[in-house]
Amino acid sequence: MSTPLIRLEGIGRTYRNGELATTVLRDVNLDIQQGEFVAIMGTSGSGKSTLMNLLGCLDQPSTGRYLFNGEDIAQFGSDELARLRRKTFGFIFQSYHLIPSATATENVEVPAIYAGLPREQRHQRAQELLTELGLGERLNNRPSQLSGGQQQRVSIARALMNDAQVILADEPTGALDSQSGRDVLALLKQLHQRGKTVIVITHDRDVASHADRLIEIRDGQIIHDSGNPAPEQPAPATPVADEDHPASAALADTGEAVRMALRALKANLFRTVLTLLGIVIGVASVVVMLAVGNGARQEVLDRISSMGTNLLLVRPGAPNTRRSQDGSTNTLTVQDAEQAALVDNVVAAVPEMNGRVTVRSGNTDYQTQVTATSADLPIARDWPVASGVFINDEDDQRYAAVAVLGRTVATNLFGNADPIGEYVLMNNVPFQVIGIMSEKGAAPWGADQDDVVFVPLNTGSLRLIGQRYLNSITIMIDDLRQADATQEAVFQAILQSHAGVEDFQIRNMASLLENVAQTQNTFTVLLGSIAAISLLVGGIGVMNIMLVNVTERTRETGIRVATGARTSNILQQFIVEAVVVSAIGGALGVIGGLAFAGGLQFFGTAIQFTTGPVLLAFGCAFATGLIFGYMPAHKAAHLDPVVALSAD
Ligand code: ADP
Ligand code: MG
Repeated sequence: MSTPLIRLEGIGRTYRNGELATTVLRDVNLDIQQGEFVAIMGTSGSGKSTLMNLLGCLDQPSTGRYLFNGEDIAQFGSDELARLRRKTFGFIFQSYHLIPSATATENVEVPAIYAGLPREQRHQRAQELLTELGLGERLNNRPSQLSGGQQQRVSIARALMNDAQVILADEPTGALDSQSGRDVLALLKQLHQRGKTVIVITHDRDVASHADRLIEIRDGQIIHDSGNPAPEQPAPATPVADEDHPASAALADTGEAVRMALRALKANLFRTVLTLLGIVIGVASVVVMLAVGNGARQEVLDRISSMGTNLLLVRPGAPNTRRSQDGSTNTLTVQDAEQAALVDNVVAAVPEMNGRVTVRSGNTDYQTQVTATSADLPIARDWPVASGVFINDEDDQRYAAVAVLGRTVATNLFGNADPIGEYVLMNNVPFQVIGIMSEKGAAPWGADQDDVVFVPLNTGSLRLIGQRYLNSITIMIDDLRQADATQEAVFQAILQSHAGVEDFQIRNMASLLENVAQTQNTFTVLLGSIAAISLLVGGIGVMNIMLVNVTERTRETGIRVATGARTSNILQQFIVEAVVVSAIGGALGVIGGLAFAGGLQFFGTAIQFTTGPVLLAFGCAFATGLIFGYMPAHKAAHLDPVVALSAD
């Protein structure tokens, strides 16, 4: 006698529900040879399905040994058991267990997906099998569009898809009308004649009578075994196809998983859209917020840099004290500017004295700022005149009543007319306009820099502002690399002329720039974090939906495991689904975010588009899918297949 295909030795199965232990099978001993047609008969609740699940490696015995082809399956790992289910066993269930969202062909293809059969071949074979079983017209129908008999034939085709050696049928006719039932039995008989080992489970003696061998089971024990009346010479056990198709490279797997994911997502479109929305909003807000934050930062930095980074700014008042707004801190003098100008590496030291003044031309009055300063201002501030000339040293010495108008002032007083040579009245003193400044634009703090009139220092001090103290000295340096040394030298020079009292402060634009950049970065990070939170919320939405998905599709998962899916296949399937949702949401979010930011830019908000935030947001969405999809997927992958199959 050769090794039986299946040998059960003292098999027992006890279900444990907390304290409660139910023993369903006890001491079952059974040999089944290759090529037999066996019926296992018993009343409802006698343990037939439990036995069948054990035979098909969906379940493990509590006691005893199960030898398949002489090998103890207790030694097999989960992937090897999956391979047995995939390659060796074909299941047929009473309630068909088809995947409701898949067509007949797709249902039949499932076992071959996990065996790694290439798409085309798989498709073709599934259609051939279905046609052979008389379903050639029904290839693209979903289970709900098929009669019970047709559904059962689909499930038979599925059982044959990987050319299983052993067909396990659990009450295959239980839900069918008698004609369909007879058809199914005829099919099983045919399969047996073609050399398959067929094991049918039934409570119906008529059905059982079709088999060559009858095993009766009651209360979990075999009470009668007719034995095999005409033991066929068993065909040498065709070795279980050992290797999966080489084409089952991970890549093909992933492509398949993505297709399955898209199908599953399409099956529940409204829910998918809602889930997507969370991710889309999250990603879009990250993109928009960072574009706005970076835009604001760049705008401020540009304005500051446009003032020149090679500047030192001297202000009156001791460091770290608030300077009163009216400039009453009277500590900075023209002499300080002259001292500073003597320091090495200093190109120019421009004194500035500010006041408010009303300028009149003809009947037009205009309130503006007057700045009394020296000839070097255009150089130091990098601000040339647009027409005419700037104040020179001689004007200063002569106390000349000349003025250079900022663009805003010129436009307000003279419109488009050329004011050069004209006179304006300031404090009832006529000043001749000798030049117009080029347009400078807004200052970093937002003020209009063109709203100003420049006059010579002495003239302004005496006739317009009425004070002798400066509001600031702007110092332009030559070699930026020596900025620190120069700053220190200027500091010492002024300190000396102030008799050692530090009643002034020096700042350089470079460090100011750094400070502002830092503040703006904080602002951007803040915006980004708020947006990231909305992405997180989107991710939680994904996890929520995936958990619902996994629960809803518990039975589908059971079917996939029964037809040979590995734990990793199930894990991959649900993770890919989560990632596909997140990636689609991410892509839409990026597009939406860029469009929105573009709209903001159109309406005048400073926006900076950079690839960084876009990639970051998309990457986060992708990672969100992975992270939040993992938990539900893990849950699905570790379902007990028997329990999963009986879920509704
Ligand atoms: P049959 O298929 O012969 O009708 P089953 O094998 O499905 O019988 O069940 C046999 C017995 O085991 C039944 O009494 C059933 O209630 C019990 N049973 C089946 N599955 C479980 C389970 N997961 N936990 C506890 N009891 C179970
Ligand atoms: Mg049953």
